Amino acid sequence: MFDLTLTFDNGPEPEATPLVLDVLARRGVRSTFFVIGEKLVRTRALAERAHAEGHWIGNHSWTHRVPFGERIEADTGEREIGTTQTVIGDLAHARRYFRPFGGGGHLDRRLLNASALDFLTAGGFTCVLWNAIPRDWSDPEGWAVRALAQCRAQSWTLMVLHDVPSGAMRYLEEFLDRAAEAGARLRQDFPPDCLPIVEGIVVRPIEDYVTRR
Ligand SMILES: [Zn+2]
Repeated sequence: MFDLTLTFDNGPEPEATPLVLDVLARRGVRSTFFVIGEKLVRTRALAERAHAEGHWIGNHSWTHRVPFGERIEADTGEREIGTTQTVIGDLAHARRYFRPFGGGGHLDRRLLNASALDFLTAGGFTCVLWNAIPRDWSDPEGWAVRALAQCRAQSWTLMVLHDVPSGAMRYLEEFLDRAAEAGARLRQDFPPDCLPIVEGIVVRPIEDYVTRR
C-alpha cells in the first residue's frame, strides 16, 4: 500500500487537459494543476472546469522559460509569480500554491532566486516541490512503468506529470489501473516534506533551492 498525490504541470492545453480531466473524473481522483500564466490567459476555461470538478489550481510561473535561479533581474517574483496569480484570480487555492521549475525536473538551486523567495514569503504562498518525476514528457510511451516503480519505493509519492500534448496522457488511465492493483491510495493533499514554504512561512531548509547573486 502507498499514498499517491498526482499533479499536472505546464498547462492548461486544449489538446491535453480535457483528456486528463475526463480520466480523473471517471476515477473520482482529485489533483492539482500547476498552470503557466501566459497559457492561462488563452485557456482559462480549462482551469475553470478543473476547479469546478474539485481540482486545485496552483501557480507555475508566467513564462516557464528560464529557471528562476538563472535569472538576474530583480523583479522575478512580481513578473513571473505575481502576474500569474492575478490571472488565476478566484480559482486560486486559499493556501496559494506555487511550484517552481528546474528545467528538466532538477531539485536544486535553479528553482528560486532571492526575488522569487521574497515574493513567496511576503505573499503568503505555499511552495510545492515533488518526490517523483517519471519524465512523461521525454518518454510518452514508457513513463508509467517508471512512475509505478517510484510509487512503490516510498510511502507517499507526490508525482509531477504534464498536461501537455506529448501523447503521454493517453496512458494515464492505464497507469491508474496499475497503481490501484499495487495498492495505491489516491489523495489530493501534499506530503509535508515537499512543502518548504507554507503560507509564507519557511518551514524547511530552503537555501539549497535558491541562487543568490
Ligand atoms: Zn514545469
